[in-house]
Amino acid sequence: MEDKLKRESLCVQAGWKPKKGEPRVLPIYQSTTFKYDNSEQMARLFDLEESGYFYTRLQNPTNDAVAEKIAQLEGGVGAMLTSSGQAANFYAVFNICQAGDHFIATDTIYGGTFNLFGVTMKKLGIECTFIDPDWDDDKIEAAFRPNTKCVFGETISNPGVNVFDIERFARMAHKHGVPLIVDNTFATPINCRPFEWGADIVTHSTTKYMDGHASAVGGAIVDSGNFDWDAHADKFPGLCQPDESYHGLVYTKAFGKMAYMTKATAQLMRDLGSIQSPMNAFLLNLGLETLHLRMKQHCANAQKVAEFLEQDNRVAWINYCGLKSNKYYGLGQKYLPDGSCGVIAFGLKGSRDEAIKFMDSLKMICIVTHVADARTCVLHPASHTHRQLSEEQLRQAGIAPDLIRLSVGIENADDIIDDIKQALDRI
Ligand SMILES: *Cc1c(COP(=O)(O)O)cnc(C)c1O
Repeated sequence: MEDKLKRESLCVQAGWKPKKGEPRVLPIYQSTTFKYDNSEQMARLFDLEESGYFYTRLQNPTNDAVAEKIAQLEGGVGAMLTSSGQAANFYAVFNICQAGDHFIATDTIYGGTFNLFGVTMKKLGIECTFIDPDWDDDKIEAAFRPNTKCVFGETISNPGVNVFDIERFARMAHKHGVPLIVDNTFATPINCRPFEWGADIVTHSTTKYMDGHASAVGGAIVDSGNFDWDAHADKFPGLCQPDESYHGLVYTKAFGKMAYMTKATAQLMRDLGSIQSPMNAFLLNLGLETLHLRMKQHCANAQKVAEFLEQDNRVAWINYCGLKSNKYYGLGQKYLPDGSCGVIAFGLKGSRDEAIKFMDSLKMICIVTHVADARTCVLHPASHTHRQLSEEQLRQAGIAPDLIRLSVGIENADDIIDDIKQALDRI
């Protein structure tokens, strides 16, 4: 029955299923530990022979209910919550890569992920090649190596808001026997479900639209269950060969379609421990209950704001795939037919000073690091989030020094436009 519910209903209803006499609203299981009657019961849990809760670092009922809602929204077989989007992307890749391995990511991804992949994972012996998604297939395929283990991209990139051609990248990844991982943070499953286009794993920074109120940092990983690890067993020994830390258990044999998620829980959460607190999972669930309503409003408002900016002669350029003139309009119509997200990237005529003056003149709209919540906010990545990138890296990441990231909220669109107008008048 639940499988047949549409996304709006899943936002409200999926996940927590109370039994007789239990709370209707998802309870916060603020407990590190869980009780069992005897030692034998506990031992079976530790051997992964039985499922059940024993320690919140591995699993917690509040978190699992929210993860289940996200899994259903994405159309996946299972999901896990993490403490942040950074942890989600790290786990998603590290679950199938080890020292000596290689993977491919688009160079337009979020700055934090760019650093994680290019700098920190390199220290772990895992190398990432960044490719320009605009390259033709041959040039991208030349980046694959025998030790390549996955391909990574963002449905809508942060902050450039470029649209990722999921189907095309899934085809290239599968041709080379590896999964496609898609960070679906900006689109959310309301506007795009990457699994329907061939992606294998989806990640989220739930900090953004899913939470929607800028109240809790969090992340999620979802598995489609579609990738056939055993068909490429030599590439994925961690999933297809015995795990000595669990008495020689083989994940694909023991857990089938849940192999990837079970390994991520049993190994990565056990050893690295980036759990989401049950309290934050509760807040995330409140956000998810209205995700479908908010996304509609974000998209409607952003479309109006984008149309306003496009016709204003003080605006040098604008990127928003809802505009007919936009380079990504076609991909947007394909992957995001009901709307993309509330985030717009644009530049003003003149120097960097004009951008700063514009942002400092805004009244209702605030300058914040955050993006994708109910309140309209603005950021200048070159001066703020991406300060650590060199000019060359900025260019490589498709971030113009004058790029302003405007995250359109769910206020009245006329008020947002009026604020932008008066700030433009001051430059
Ligand atoms: C914010 C963001 C992240 C990082 O998530 P945190 O929750 O801040 O750790 C990853 N990917 C995208 C697309 C993001 O916007």
